[in-house]
Amino acid sequence: MKERLDKVLAHLGVGSRKEVARWARAGLITLNGAVVRDAAHKFDPSQTRIELEGRPLLYQSFFHVLLHKPAGYVTSTKDRDGQPVTALLQPPRNDWMPVGRLDKDTEGLLLLTTYGELTHRLTHPRWKVSKRYYVELEQPATPEDVAVFTEGLELEGEFLRPAELHLLPNPQQVELTLHEGRFHQVKRMFAARGNRVTYLRRVAFGPLELPPDLPPGASRPLSLEELEQLY
Ligand code: URA
Repeated sequence: MKERLDKVLAHLGVGSRKEVARWARAGLITLNGAVVRDAAHKFDPSQTRIELEGRPLLYQSFFHVLLHKPAGYVTSTKDRDGQPVTALLQPPRNDWMPVGRLDKDTEGLLLLTTYGELTHRLTHPRWKVSKRYYVELEQPATPEDVAVFTEGLELEGEFLRPAELHLLPNPQQVELTLHEGRFHQVKRMFAARGNRVTYLRRVAFGPLELPPDLPPGASRPLSLEELEQLY
């Protein structure tokens, strides 16, 4: 499909449409080796070698990132409810969609994509994408909690799918794997057991683990292999 030069380069995140127009006028952009000075020039980006100041730009239709969400950011694309997680992503773009939600005080692995189909696919209950959380609790977790979660708890009239609770050596620290994603689910499950979550971090989403070398606030593009694992 043919698209305008300024739109394509802005989509790739190299600069605003205004900047692209300036670079084009200055003769800094080539398409298949030929200088193109008109920002409104239309071409098929998937079939064209694009260079900016001699540097090739790899065309991608969609973008996907893995973010280590820090506490204090809301899983939103607007700053209406507080600092949105998208403010952490560079270059800024306005088409990010979070794949599911983490609460403002929750840390950990959050995927964001510009491909709506992926969000839909990974959050649809039918696919039962598993999420693993590291949880710190006010009270020690008990073998009875393990049994109740394994059985599938009833929460305010909703039956939850069986979840795996793994007790760590310190019984106030556990790992919990869910196969669905309901509102405040981890906190509500422990509240139903008379306990309280004091710290929550998502450490895995489906086949993806939170990379140990990715500090809170940092993100990186998903690799092609990671993307394939999600399908
Ligand atoms: N469960 C919660 O209670 N909060 C989250 O952020 C994620 C799962």
